[in-house]
Amino acid sequence: MSDTITNTFLHDLPSADGYFGEYGGSFIPDQLKAVMDEITQAYLDIREDPEFRRELAELYSHYVGRPSPVFHARNLSRKCGAEIFLKREDLNHTGAHKINHCLGEALLAKKMGKKKLIAETGAGQHGVALATAAALVGLECDIYMGEVDIRKEHPNVVRMAILGARVIPATHGRKTLKEAVDAAFEAYLEDPINQLYAIGSVVGPHPFPMMVRDFQSIVGNEARAQMLTQTGQLPDNVVACVGGGSNAVGIFSAFLEDQDVKLWGVEPAGRDLETDGEHAATMTKGEPGIMHGFKSYMLKDAEGEPQEVYSVASGLDYPSVGPQHSFLKDSGRVTYDTINDQEAIEAFFELSRSEGIIPAIESSHAVAYALKLAKTHPGESILVNLSGRGDKDIDFVVEHYGDAFGVHLAN
Ligand SMILES: *Cc1c(COP(=O)(O)O)cnc(C)c1O
Repeated sequence: MSDTITNTFLHDLPSADGYFGEYGGSFIPDQLKAVMDEITQAYLDIREDPEFRRELAELYSHYVGRPSPVFHARNLSRKCGAEIFLKREDLNHTGAHKINHCLGEALLAKKMGKKKLIAETGAGQHGVALATAAALVGLECDIYMGEVDIRKEHPNVVRMAILGARVIPATHGRKTLKEAVDAAFEAYLEDPINQLYAIGSVVGPHPFPMMVRDFQSIVGNEARAQMLTQTGQLPDNVVACVGGGSNAVGIFSAFLEDQDVKLWGVEPAGRDLETDGEHAATMTKGEPGIMHGFKSYMLKDAEGEPQEVYSVASGLDYPSVGPQHSFLKDSGRVTYDTINDQEAIEAFFELSRSEGIIPAIESSHAVAYALKLAKTHPGESILVNLSGRGDKDIDFVVEHYGDAFGVHLAN
């Protein structure tokens, strides 16, 4: 039985045209079809190329600092009644899991003879990771960012500039992430030969959901081996937050065939799961549809357009989700549930004060869910993908929640 599941879940997916069951595919303008086929073919060639694999493996060890540790959070475990293990992606160079796929995309672009990487960014996390990879590999880098976000996310804008990237403001509409996507896509259409649009998660048209998943699968492969070495067993549960879904699919991919390991994906319930625009719980509240070049669950408004979404974690507020997650939801292999802003912030402080680890607010959603699971699954082991560190969030958290958690800064 497990053999068929093995094949269905991982090795056969996606299909040659990029489908995970009914989800995924490639819904793009005709003028991009040839170029996207070229990227697919180049990637399929390169992923079997020992030279490319060696180069990437070397960067993962000596540049990113892999393998990232798995840490048994004993203080937190004692408090919550389950055994909590943290996969420390927060310790990577640039502070999150995103560097894993940005390096892969940058190397691919270089091998294909592209001159420039382009991408959009919301809070700037993807922009910084990509600008880093571009600097290292030796490519130009243009990052499109809403004018409003440029003002809000000043430190990341400065980082990108120092790294040598151009930050190009999107000045139309609401001047945030959606407009940045429009601007980046328009720029890409102008010269798809010399540029590579480096997508920031397991979303977009084929081959990106497959390619970004493959680059992130190192997280799960390492963590699975580390759990076996450190505890002699596989974890009973694996938990990850889901924005586009790259850190989640990265850690889940190694465990899909282990039927006894329960997998949990955590979506942001924001301020209110029952009000449109106040959350970004795509699979919990959405329905299948097509946006940004692929088919998946999405949150639509009355006109069928992408809904406004919200989460306190800016890395999680995307109105769709990677197509493989939609497939894993329908198949029942992964359970998707939600954590709201308040619960995430509580977990942010809990982990900081129990273990001396300040998590990203995105990752705090996964930590909060692990603490909930501990109540219903006492004594079990729970492996959490700690996707990033919270340095980027400290000022925001203290300004909005400091009082409630006893942070009083003298000034
Ligand atoms: C961007 C980001 C996420 C969300 O992206 P996924 O593709 O869903 O993983 C989660 N955690 C951190 C720290 C991030 O920077």
